Amino acid sequence: MADTMKAAVLRAIGEPLRIENLPIPVAKAGEVLIKVEACGVCHSDLHAIEGDWTPLPNLSLIPGHEVVGTVAATGAGVTHFKAGDRIGVPWMYSACGHCEYCLSGMETICLKAEATGYTKPGGYAEYMIADAGFCGHIPSGVDSHELAPILCAGVTTYRGLKRTGARPGQWLTVLGIGGLGHIAVQYAKAMGLRVAAVDISAEKLALAKSYGAEVLVDASKVDPGAAIKEATGGSHGAIVTAVSAKAFEQSVGVLRNGGTVCWIGLPGGKQDEIRLSIAAIVNGEASVRGSNVGTRQDLQEAIDFAANGLVRAKIEKQPLDAINDVFARMKKGQISGRVVLAIGSP
Ligand code: NAD
Ligand code: ZN
Ligand code: ZN
Repeated sequence: MADTMKAAVLRAIGEPLRIENLPIPVAKAGEVLIKVEACGVCHSDLHAIEGDWTPLPNLSLIPGHEVVGTVAATGAGVTHFKAGDRIGVPWMYSACGHCEYCLSGMETICLKAEATGYTKPGGYAEYMIADAGFCGHIPSGVDSHELAPILCAGVTTYRGLKRTGARPGQWLTVLGIGGLGHIAVQYAKAMGLRVAAVDISAEKLALAKSYGAEVLVDASKVDPGAAIKEATGGSHGAIVTAVSAKAFEQSVGVLRNGGTVCWIGLPGGKQDEIRLSIAAIVNGEASVRGSNVGTRQDLQEAIDFAANGLVRAKIEKQPLDAINDVFARMKKGQISGRVVLAIGSP
């Protein structure tokens, strides 16, 4: 094994990533060294490099948190992964394991959690370190590049859908049919829900239709609330994955009385604050919840859906060196599905 690796590095907020040669890190106790095969490009990575969120990421930063690869080496005490195993790394790098949230199955809101590709180096590199306790097992026979987006877009929308409480046969609206949303439509269908899709791009709505969305609403032309109430009587559940404050403002309006909307997108910056009607929430007994990635159990369930062919990310492969162009296209809304960086061989 060589002792240096190629990585895409953020040296200062707002700068392009630089392709650099860095030393290959060494796995300490409880950690695994991973040879990265594929890493999805999530909009959260773009928020990170642009400094949209507080606190800012730890610099210098290697972004990337939709990682699939193989275990190259294990640190002391790692028993459930061995060299050569297929492995997936999600956003949730680790959680403390003993706070009230970790103990009650809510490790997603642990105050001591670390984030892959934000507080810890991520997968835009030929090798990376992960906490073995929080990685996913990747079954054989599943394409690594197609599976990579499940590590964030998949698990996040899967958990978000569950948190709406919508049941089979009921209506679920997905606002934002991007990397997360196009997978959300598929999980919703696999869970027996009827799907309405909202975006500002005809192409993205056509993609949602191809996965079985029955109602398509172009929010650049019509008000989603009125259109969805007319078509469905109002949605029982909704999730928002759009990178636009407007979609969050509109999301309560798509619900029928008693419905729940789960917010997933994180536009950040100036888009972080919105206006909502108090009366719409009170009189309609609506619920608004947040959802932050997923637990380890959510992750393994989300992977199982993909491994069983129920969910399949639409991917476009790009080399690591193309990352800055990928972000430029993402900013303009020009990516259909998910770009996955093809970094190494298994
Ligand atoms: P993306 O860029 O792939 O997709 C965003 C989509 O939103 C695009 O299809 C775009 O056309 C659509 N959109 C923009 N304005 C809209 C509007 N007004 N109405 C409807 N749709 C609109 O981004 P992504 O990778 O899917 O990420 C989406 C968001 O989710 C980001 O903010 C990301 O940081 C966040 N995220 C949150 C979590 C979490 O745990 N909560 C996890 C992953 C990503
Ligand atoms: Zn904790
Ligand atoms: Zn993500």
